Formats: sequence, C-alpha cells, structure tokens
Amino acid sequence: MKPMTDLTPLEDALRVVLEKSEPLETETVSLPEALGRFLAEDVRADTDKPLFDNSAMDGFAVRSADLAGASEERPAKLKLTGESSAGSGESLRVQEGTAVKIFTGAPIPEGADAVVPVEYTEVRDGFVYVKRSFGRGANVRFRGEDVRKGDLILSRGQEVRAYEVGLLASVNRAVVRVYRRPRVAILSTGDELLEVGEPQTRPSQIRSSNHHMLRSLVEGAGGVPCVLGIAPDDPEQLLGWLRTCSRYDVFITTGGVSMGERDYVQHLVGKAGIKVLFHRLRIKPAKPVLFGTYGGGGLFFGLPGNPVSCAVAFDLLVYPAIRSMLGAREVFRRKVKALLVGGYSRRDAKRREFARARVWFDGGAYRCEPLPKQQSHMLTSYVGANAYLIVQEGVRELGEGEEVEVILL
Ligand code: AMP
Ligand code: MG
Repeated sequence: MKPMTDLTPLEDALRVVLEKSEPLETETVSLPEALGRFLAEDVRADTDKPLFDNSAMDGFAVRSADLAGASEERPAKLKLTGESSAGSGESLRVQEGTAVKIFTGAPIPEGADAVVPVEYTEVRDGFVYVKRSFGRGANVRFRGEDVRKGDLILSRGQEVRAYEVGLLASVNRAVVRVYRRPRVAILSTGDELLEVGEPQTRPSQIRSSNHHMLRSLVEGAGGVPCVLGIAPDDPEQLLGWLRTCSRYDVFITTGGVSMGERDYVQHLVGKAGIKVLFHRLRIKPAKPVLFGTYGGGGLFFGLPGNPVSCAVAFDLLVYPAIRSMLGAREVFRRKVKALLVGGYSRRDAKRREFARARVWFDGGAYRCEPLPKQQSHMLTSYVGANAYLIVQEGVRELGEGEEVEVILL
C-alpha cells in the first residue's frame, strides 16, 4: 500500500480542478433554454418600468384635494365620468369634483393624483361617495419607480432561474446570451457490470448504477450528459473509449481506477492524451479519484467504482467544475453549520470524511443526524439524506450537540 502522504488534500485538488475549469464559449438561446444557465451579458431595462403611472388597486381615480375632510359621516361626493381598465383608458381626464372608475394596472387619468380603493366607497346614481381622505400619490404606481430605461437589471454571471426568465420577458428579451453547457461523457467500467433490464446470467454480476446516477447528477448540475454505457475491463476497448475524449468537454469514467490488477484506467489515460494532475485524495469515501486534462480545456475524471464514492467524488469535484464551465459565480453547494444529533465516531481519522446525513432546521439552528450504513458500496445511505456531514482530518469523535459543518445537497 502506498503511504498516506501520497494522498492529495481536497483543497489542493479543488484548486487544480478549478484552475482548469474555465467558462465555455457563449451562445444565444431562447428564454425556455436559458433556464439554469448563467448570463454572459449584462441586461438593461428597455423602457421605464412601469412605463406609465397606473393604479395599484381597483377603485376610483380622484383628485386628492377633492377628498379633504371626507369621513364616514360626511363622504366626498364625486361625479363618475368614465372607466379606466388595464390596457385602456388613455384619453380619460379627472376634473374637479369628478372621479373615474379604475382597475389595477390601468393608466391614471390626467388630472387624477390618487386612487381610492373600492372598499372605502359607495356608488349611487352616477356618483361615488368616498368615506375618507387619501393623500397625493395614494395607491398610484409611478412611471419608472421599479426601474428606469437603461438601468442594469441583471449582470453577467447571474443564474437564470424562473424569476430571471420572467424579468427577461418583462424587458422584451426573446433571446439571451449565456455560456454553453459542457458535454459530459459518462462511462462505467467493469466486467461484472450489468445494464438495467439485462438478464443476470452469473451471481457475480451486479447492476451498474453509476452511469445512471451520473447522468442525473450531470443534468442536475447543468451539464449535458452523454452516456456511453458500460465498458469491460479490457485495456484495448477502454483505450478506444478514452481516445474519444476530445469529443467532450468533460469525460467521466467510474471504476478501474484503484489499486487492483484489473484497474486499467490510470495506466491508459496517458495513451489517450490525458495528462494526470492528481490521483488519490485524502478523503473518505472516494479516495481513488484520478483527474487530468486533455486537448484545449478538456477535463478527465476517473471516479471510483463504489457508488457512494462515485457520488461523493462527483459532488465534491465534478459539480464545481461543471458550474465553473457554465459561468457560475458561486460554484460550490451551500455549506452551513449545524448541531450534531446523536454523535459520530470512527476508528481511522486520517482522511476527511463526508458522511451522508439528514439536516433540518429546528429551534433556531440546523440539526444534523448522520445516517446508518456509511460504507461506500451502500447507496441506501442516501435515502433520506440531504447533506454531507464533514468530519475533519484528525477528528475521531464528534459529540452530541457539537457544532459541525455540513454541505447541503
Ligand atoms: P472498482 O473501482 O472497479 O474496483 O470497483 C469498486 C466497486 O464498485 C466494486 O465492488 C464494483 O463492482 C463496484 N462498481 C464498479 N462500477 C460500478 C457501477 N457502474 N455501478 C455500481 N457499482 C459499481
Ligand atoms: Mg472494476
């Protein structure tokens, strides 16, 4: 076994990965396609918003001066002269002693300077009776009070969520410039692997979960998954696959990257033009992770075969790389402090551990409970998990109620 000093600390590995993960080229996409992408341009308001003074309420547009002293007992009496509904009413006027019926979003008629909500009024015989006074500007949404024409409303690097899609539409943008999504190849390796639906012919075969899980992880991170399927532990076939790496921005393999005799990936990557930058990390699970680069900006990740290790390695290293290629400003998942419920202990404290855990908010703080079955082949440890509990190097024991750091999934 190689000595522990061979293991790369996570910080160093992350620094190397992020140094090599540049935002990709930009492209122009339609609004629905923009969801989940990151803006590659600044977006400015096309007009003042609102573009015209309009009503914030259903009610009556009035001159506030006409309401002086109005009360329940002595309501102001105003003659109704028209109606302004959303999308109409542009030519209406309110003169002294008159009012115009108005609806939310409708233009304020010339001469009016306030809107009386309908609940303070009564209508009889062509007149509206107003039972209290309202000041200038009451219930009026003024031109430009949200943004002025030319104001910066979204800046480069901003994630396009549903809200930004709405904002872009509101400034008349049908298309927007964003960073391209990385194309990510996914290859499971192992003679024992069986595709979902394939009949089991030998008891030693296992279902390949990794490439299915990775497809969803890549998709969730914003990448474009390209699933290549399962490759046997055969150097020639593996090399054939690895040599296709230049077709993708990222190439992920799982399995065959550890210390076994049939773990070929590490011995083949060089022949495929992949330059190895680190192998083996000081973390648990997911020690055997190989990272390298190829071509002009391609990233290679040889992830461990054990499904939990594969997932942890993806979350810690591949996820930030994909976010960075997408042009995200914040590439990491959220980390918070939590109070440990139930304690946690381990025998070997040499590596930083990422234990699947359940986190919830209670009594003003996050609480974190590690889940059972923490071994790296037990994917069931993710059932009910929404976080990784971080156990630092050198820490053997964490007590009940102790403050810990967690990564939210
Ligand atoms: P390896 O790193 O190739 O030695 O694989 C480590 C463990 O992970 C072995 O028990 C493999 O059977 C298992 N494994 C490898 N690839 C996959 C996969 N695609 N899906 C599920 N388990 C896998
Ligand atoms: Mg294997």
